[in-house]
Amino acid sequence: MRVVTVRYAGEERWGVLDPEGGFRLAPRPPEAPATVLDHLDEGVPLRPGDDWESVPLEDATLLAPIPVPRRNVICMGLNYADHAEESMRAKGREVVLPEHPVVFTKATTSVTGPDSEIVLEPDVTEQMDWEVELALVMGRGGRHIAAADALQHVFGYTIINDLSARDLQFRHKQFFLGKSLDSACPMGPWITTVDEVEDPQALDIRCRVNGEMKQEANTSLMIFGIARTIEILSGILRLQPGDIIATGTPAGVGFARTPPQYLRPGDRVECEIAGLGVLRNYFI
Ligand code: MG
Repeated sequence: MRVVTVRYAGEERWGVLDPEGGFRLAPRPPEAPATVLDHLDEGVPLRPGDDWESVPLEDATLLAPIPVPRRNVICMGLNYADHAEESMRAKGREVVLPEHPVVFTKATTSVTGPDSEIVLEPDVTEQMDWEVELALVMGRGGRHIAAADALQHVFGYTIINDLSARDLQFRHKQFFLGKSLDSACPMGPWITTVDEVEDPQALDIRCRVNGEMKQEANTSLMIFGIARTIEILSGILRLQPGDIIATGTPAGVGFARTPPQYLRPGDRVECEIAGLGVLRNYFI
């Protein structure tokens, strides 16, 4: 199923894409959980019933599937060898692949939905860059989750554009500020549940800017795969239902290009992962 959060008739509702067309929205509480996060907390299978409301596509607007995460989006840095290499080369450093995952987070307030307009603030950054990423949404949490069991803890997969203000990222030495601007975490267009993703480590992943291909890779090329990532993270901190983990971006980002390229007003960015949809945003 494709799990959505939408704005419909002035209200925020959640539900699923109807394979026949349109949305099927969960009834309001107490008949159903109020949000996707509340559904994940219940830990019960997702079963849209007869009391779910059918709504035509054009009557509702897609929001990020989890519009306000409970805590920061957890992100893997330098998790594709070709991106790690281009990043270090662009900084004039020796190319050394990470032996342990590079992990940072994006503020919850950075999340925005598909098709949204993202305001570039030239007095804050002049170097906003794109990063298409596969993100997973945790279903069951836990500590010390073994890699062999890890995928059973995943609820589904979505797409994130890990927008990165490079000047802030490098100036402040730590990733958090440069990754956490308002609307710097487009997410969506929905969460595809695990049963519909045969192999999350075999998905074509692409990013286009104004129709021009900038990033093109496959999730098989991650250094730390999804299962190993969950094992490592949960070995250190408790993962919780609804946690969002972005798994890193492949090569082709703007700052490592010659000359470097950054997003400008009028640009359109499309992040696409096979089977998961297209996440499109407009820069103003
Ligand atoms: Mg990233």
